Amino acid sequence: MIIIKTIPELRAVINEQRLLNKKIGFVPTMGALHSAHQALIKQCVAENDYTVVSIFVNPLQFGPGEDLEKYPRDLNKDSDAVKSCGADLIFFPDPEEILGGEILTYVDIDKLQNNLCGLKRPGHFRGVCTIVTKLFNIVTPDKAYFGKKDIQQLTIIKKMVKDLNFAIEIVECPIIRETDGIAFSSRNLYLSSAERKDAVVLNQAIKNAVKAIDAGELSAEIIINQIKKQINEKYTAKIDYVKIVNTDMEDVKDIKSGNILALAVFIGATRLIDNHIIGEVLDF
Ligand code: AMP
Repeated sequence: MIIIKTIPELRAVINEQRLLNKKIGFVPTMGALHSAHQALIKQCVAENDYTVVSIFVNPLQFGPGEDLEKYPRDLNKDSDAVKSCGADLIFFPDPEEILGGEILTYVDIDKLQNNLCGLKRPGHFRGVCTIVTKLFNIVTPDKAYFGKKDIQQLTIIKKMVKDLNFAIEIVECPIIRETDGIAFSSRNLYLSSAERKDAVVLNQAIKNAVKAIDAGELSAEIIINQIKKQINEKYTAKIDYVKIVNTDMEDVKDIKSGNILALAVFIGATRLIDNHIIGEVLDF
């Protein structure tokens, strides 16, 4: 496995692989890699000839006062994690390499960013779409792998790829959870042991909501209130949002299969997200 920091060097490697008729798979990440990232990478390795993993903490997707500076960074640990999954290359550019000079062109998306994290974090998805577009143009993968944990991001990337005619297949990967059900997240590293205990309330509240929905309760308002009540019982928890939306990211009144139950909760100072697609098997 090799680590490459510059765009010209990366392009040279990709050109070589293309001449050998290799299919390129791509897993974009912000590093601080955990088992869920590794599951994406392993799937990519299994389904492609050559796997590129990018590690880039994207400044454009962080708002003022968010955790850009303290976001965990550990290249040595990450490169071991990527290597053990059988990937071929880590693209680890300096911010200057990606953002150097003045950027005047951004990729923005209508409608799908007007709710959930897009509403709470203005500019976040513009930052995501702009940098993912740049990475797609640099890596030129055949397939790119994204996790359903960031369900609004996945929805937006799929639409962006369709709207802008990227010749890239977006592969959706399931949410990977720890044994107590909490979704793996690089931000779990911020949690104290007391906060870590409280953090399971996100997945527990989803689980109870799904039980109530399966028992016939289809009012979004009632389910949302049930979730909020359970979360608010935790001393360290502060709700950012609890929503049930359709695939256009619009709030629904009556719950239907395929709707998305999505939540964002601060546990202490750490903002965690989780979601469940109604009708899919709950495996935690
Ligand atoms: P990040 O490094 O947080 O930007 O995440 C990189 C990729 O890993 C994104 O496609 C995420 O959706 C995905 N990912 C992160 N955590 C999980 C998880 N627990 N389950 C599935 N995918 C995840």
